[in-house]
Amino acid sequence: MTKQVYNFGAGPAMLPVPVMQQIQEEFLDFQGMGVSLIEISHRSKEFEAVINNCDELIRELADLPQNYKILYTHGGAQMQFAGVPLNLLGLKPAHKAIYSESGNFSKLANKEAARYGEIIIATSSADTDYDRIPALTKDMIPDDASYAYITSNNTIYGTRYSEYPDTGDTPLVIDATSDMFSHVVDFSKIGVMFAGMQKNLGPSGTAAVIIREDLIGHAMEKTPSLLDYAVYEKSHSMANTINTFAIYTMSLVMQWLKDQGGIAAIEKVNRVKAATLYDVIDQSSYYSGTAHVDHRSNMNVTFTLPDDESTAAFLKQAGDIGLYALKGHRNVGGVRASIYNAMPLAGCEKLAEFMKEFERTQG
Ligand SMILES: *Cc1c(COP(=O)(O)O)cnc(C)c1O
Repeated sequence: MTKQVYNFGAGPAMLPVPVMQQIQEEFLDFQGMGVSLIEISHRSKEFEAVINNCDELIRELADLPQNYKILYTHGGAQMQFAGVPLNLLGLKPAHKAIYSESGNFSKLANKEAARYGEIIIATSSADTDYDRIPALTKDMIPDDASYAYITSNNTIYGTRYSEYPDTGDTPLVIDATSDMFSHVVDFSKIGVMFAGMQKNLGPSGTAAVIIREDLIGHAMEKTPSLLDYAVYEKSHSMANTINTFAIYTMSLVMQWLKDQGGIAAIEKVNRVKAATLYDVIDQSSYYSGTAHVDHRSNMNVTFTLPDDESTAAFLKQAGDIGLYALKGHRNVGGVRASIYNAMPLAGCEKLAEFMKEFERTQG
């Protein structure tokens, strides 16, 4: 028997066990073909069935309106830090966009976008070390802005938008890498949502991009073909050889999500999971949450202990009992428990028990 480990890593993150079992079972012989899924053409009818199935599951689970397209793009989430401005800045002549700076990834995103147009950081929580979500309101968005950009869940700082800002007619663009499909979203209010797959959806290196149809086809002239959303749309993401394994894995994760009862059902579980850990933090004078209480993430729970020695001992003892990869990001320190969709409630309960026990004996 393999050791029972709960993987709290931030990404690449744990995947549902049944998904990995299915991959293992059919890895050498995909659907009786005698070859592996990763050995067959991306243009084969068998792979086409896989990608079509992934599309259908996403549409159904997310209740995606008909005028939204699903693209599978190369280069993970950060390639979209360039992809978004290259494709969308041209929506308006001013080539201007509004960014909310809520953490490290939104900072990287606005820096990259600034290579292609005028980027306005309309709101930021940098002055409080990104412990909260900066408010983005309609009056901050000028009429000549092509889009407004937010990071829905801040993986490093453990904060999240509990409600998306109302951006009026300006398309809202969301980097949802660490919380896509973890909670119910009204896609009709969103222009673009993208996510690197490796946190909630599948393996690393590929992103899923959900985009309103009319926002496709405005790429700047010099946009590389493999960043142009129109090229992806026209070719069903197969202008060149797409990462077939990533899409196959994502299709299995989507099927697993459907088997859990869908996004509304997993959202309920996610709330309970997060509350299990936040309750311990809130009742303790030993642990301190690093995120403002009203802005806390349900995906990444961040907290600190009184000193570095205690943190090291905490991480060591946690590791010894199978609580893996709890070390906080170097920007924040302390502990970070990433509890994406695939993390079972039992993992959070075990961590909560350990936290209480550690405080009792060491605190
Ligand atoms: C992890 C993460 C990224 C980086 O993803 P890559 O696929 O490594 O580029 C970007 N944005 C957010 C919100 C993330 O959590």
